[in-house]
Amino acid sequence: MSSADLQESFDPNIIARDAFAICVDMPVSAFPRLVDLLTSTNGVVRVTLKASMSADQRPTTTIGLVATLEQSCQRCLQPVTVVVDHVHTVEWVADEAELARLDASEEALDNPDWEFLPMPVPPKVCTLDLVEDELILSLPIVPLHEVCALPEAAPEPAEDHPFAALARLKRLN
Ligand SMILES: [Zn+2]
Repeated sequence: MSSADLQESFDPNIIARDAFAICVDMPVSAFPRLVDLLTSTNGVVRVTLKASMSADQRPTTTIGLVATLEQSCQRCLQPVTVVVDHVHTVEWVADEAELARLDASEEALDNPDWEFLPMPVPPKVCTLDLVEDELILSLPIVPLHEVCALPEAAPEPAEDHPFAALARLKRLN
């Protein structure tokens, strides 16, 4: 496994054919949309990308994320440590039509950590965007301490948290 920097973008077909794999530690500050959801920009995210062909000979990209992040507890508003240890696989299908066929068939997986996405045209994926989207989705919808130090200062959790909206959008895809 290489420790070189992540490429800015990749062609899922080519990296799958080459069985490409990489593991890099990236500073949390490299992900501005993630930082907006955190109370600290300290730390690193261990990003693993692995590419291979699926059983159905479609290119797949597997994103592994390991990080210890800090968010604001939605009950007491004090910092809460959030441990991310998340693996997500994208299996790239030819186009929207194939995606619709898969969704209508039994091939649609009931696995939230595996999704089918249409191959972009041209076949180019921005590495940082893909990784950051997945990082944001790996955060808890409502970050909470198991037991707050100050339970008396307990505002109600927000009804419709932005993560919930993003998670819903992602599921609709
Ligand atoms: Zn709390």
